[in-house]
Amino acid sequence: MEEQVKEDNILIREVETKNIMTKSTLPVGGYSVNPYVGCTHGCKYCYASFMKRFTGHTEPWGSFLDIKRWPEIKNPWKYRGQRVVIGSVTDGYNPQEEHFGNTRRVLEQLKGSGAEVLICTKSDLVVRDLELLKTMEKVTVSWSINTLDEQFRADMDHAVSIERRLTAMKQVYDAGIRTVCFISPVFPGITDFEAIFEKVRNQCDLVWLENLNLRGGFKKDIMEYIKEKYPNLFPLYDAIYNKKDRSYFQMLEQKAEQMAKQNDCLFVDNELPYGRAKKGHPVIVDYFYHEEIRGSENTGKRKTRI
Ligand code: SF4
Repeated sequence: MEEQVKEDNILIREVETKNIMTKSTLPVGGYSVNPYVGCTHGCKYCYASFMKRFTGHTEPWGSFLDIKRWPEIKNPWKYRGQRVVIGSVTDGYNPQEEHFGNTRRVLEQLKGSGAEVLICTKSDLVVRDLELLKTMEKVTVSWSINTLDEQFRADMDHAVSIERRLTAMKQVYDAGIRTVCFISPVFPGITDFEAIFEKVRNQCDLVWLENLNLRGGFKKDIMEYIKEKYPNLFPLYDAIYNKKDRSYFQMLEQKAEQMAKQNDCLFVDNELPYGRAKKGHPVIVDYFYHEEIRGSENTGKRKTRI
């Protein structure tokens, strides 16, 4: 472990890692690549914040970033046809990427490998790598957008504005690259997925929908935030997150299915295999309670409806 420095109040250090590619436990399978440990976007609802426990960090989530150093990927061809997710427990395009370039390095090492690369981000910095992405066979860029309200967005994360994410999505889509609008996490009573759909329908191939899942340390913070800023929604949150009432998300699932029908969009439980959608008719993927979607088989069949 190398020396630590503080930049813009973020604790930065370099860490050595043997292999940057890790076998994924995500429902879509394949591999995960996280070029950093931690994430300076510091989302209040971040599921990845549990990482702190395994990395010995005691600082608040969002206030540290480990810059991974790794030996060059050997035999990138062994990932041919494999899904490689960049940014499952970090955002590969956090602001520090501009300086450290770890994500770009991963892309350069995977260039020509034939891997199916999926980048998950809340940034527009990915546009910097557009020319490189265009040289890759199968690549998808996904932006998380769960609101059009910049104030709510700013309350929840330190990433770029929604407007900048939308502009980046259009640039990448117009460059011929498959894009996803990941409407996640859907905040009950706050996320208006129909309004978001209207904004993005002509610039993405897929719309993914995922419910807000409150577990771990951040449940308390989110519940307190709702109580303070959206007191009228508190009884709904109490029902869903304390009393395990699923009727609200069942209703949303039906609404999403309806929206898909009305707009001549496919409505599915899993987006695989790779494909492009007709412009204006993105495939809508129902990832509500996605832990109930089968994992390794990738059948896309839900074990039970919610
Ligand atoms: S951008 Fe993703 S990984 Fe980073 S803090 Fe937000 S939810 Fe977590």
